Amino acid sequence: MKRILLAVLGLLGILAAVLVVNTLRVPKPAAAAGQSESLAIDAPAAAARLAGAIRFQTVSVQSGAPIDTAAFLGLHEYLMQTYPAAHAAMRREVQGSLSLLYTWQGADTTAAPIVLMGHLDVVPVTEENRAEWLHAPFGGDVAEGFVWGRGTLDDKSTVVAILEAVESMAAAGLKPARTVYLAFGHDEEVGGRYGARVLVDTLVARGVKPALVIDEGGFLASDVVPGLKGMAAIVGVAEKGYISLKLTSRSAGGHSSMPPTRTSVGALSAALDRLVQQPFPASLDGPTEKMVAAVAPWVPFAPRLALANLWLTEPLVMKALQKSPMGNALTRTTTAPTMLNAGVKDNVLPPEATAVVNFRIRPGETRESVIARVRDIVNDTMIDVSPRDSATTDPSGVSRTDGPAYHLIERTIRAVVPDKPVPVVPYLVMGGTDAKYWSAHSDQVYRFLAAPISASDVPRVHGVNERIGVEAFGTAVEFFARLLRGLDQLSQ
Ligand SMILES: [Zn+2]
Repeated sequence: MKRILLAVLGLLGILAAVLVVNTLRVPKPAAAAGQSESLAIDAPAAAARLAGAIRFQTVSVQSGAPIDTAAFLGLHEYLMQTYPAAHAAMRREVQGSLSLLYTWQGADTTAAPIVLMGHLDVVPVTEENRAEWLHAPFGGDVAEGFVWGRGTLDDKSTVVAILEAVESMAAAGLKPARTVYLAFGHDEEVGGRYGARVLVDTLVARGVKPALVIDEGGFLASDVVPGLKGMAAIVGVAEKGYISLKLTSRSAGGHSSMPPTRTSVGALSAALDRLVQQPFPASLDGPTEKMVAAVAPWVPFAPRLALANLWLTEPLVMKALQKSPMGNALTRTTTAPTMLNAGVKDNVLPPEATAVVNFRIRPGETRESVIARVRDIVNDTMIDVSPRDSATTDPSGVSRTDGPAYHLIERTIRAVVPDKPVPVVPYLVMGGTDAKYWSAHSDQVYRFLAAPISASDVPRVHGVNERIGVEAFGTAVEFFARLLRGLDQLSQ
């Protein structure tokens, strides 16, 4: 008995030692960058130029639908007028009807180029919310320390910040160490099929193999990553796939006074319930595993012990993550019923009932595997399951976090926030971005804008009172300015 007890105690001691050793092996948080060479960014002047770009109503409503061409051409012209040195230094092409492709030849034309992406279009402003805007959504007001309006976070901020950075270098007569392409799509908000896809195809056809691609998708966000307090640079290393499936349930119609055992509405309801009750399997692999590893050095000892010993604690960590809708979405393909339709009269059995369920697919699964699983769960001869439309995408590949491109992004982030150490956290982007079109061609594609924002700013993207801080925008400009000046450090 005593022997067994001693053996158990011994094993527990070994276990405790393993847990602690693993925890202590978590690398120390990265230090702040310290004094880096100063770069004079005139944030208020740059913000005023961003405000000018906000005034063009470059709205995307539906893929392939007519668009306000004059608004886009107006924005093109505005960018040419506002950034003359940049436009003199770069070759400019209009692609995919209204998208822009710039080529800025680098000092070393044999080195792999980089691609900086952004998009010119914005989502519409809903009429019912218009009165809630404190400043007109296309007014381009600069007030209370912010630039206000549609596109200030998503995504004219990116386009203008990049051009600000190029302009300052070009005006100083500087050339990038390697060739830089700027690719600004005009239909990102409706899938990018006519804009970014054409831009990427064009570059690929020209033999471009980028050493680094940066698009929108992450921020210098405070209190957004589960378990992490304060500012963190959230760098998107992958994005989820997208599919909406339509469930069509059919049965004989007729009078509701003598219903059959199974009705179209009844069968559909049961099927939806089965889908919601049987969520897709959760997993901590891929980008979320990278995120957990990057967060570990920055949290107190107890949670660090859990994050450093996932072989034992994974169920606990998973449970904690799944408490929030965001944490849940980071770990699995999500199931969201969004549309329901049946019936025209209260005493008539509808012969057809339909539902639309939207799935955001995590890396590791595909549209095909989602359809197969849904058909498996629905498993009802009365119900047909098929894609609602062609707006579907597989999840992107997962970009490297151990290569020179990611390290350059990390170093550049630390240089623009020199006074405090910032966690740089790889992240799975829930929405779609134009960056997905690079997925088949590069594993060094990142989604990030170095603008400090808070958790309360997140709903402003596509919401009411979208705005960006004047100083925050200055930080985004500085990031691109430093990145472009540091391209010699991007060795393959
Ligand atoms: Zn966007």
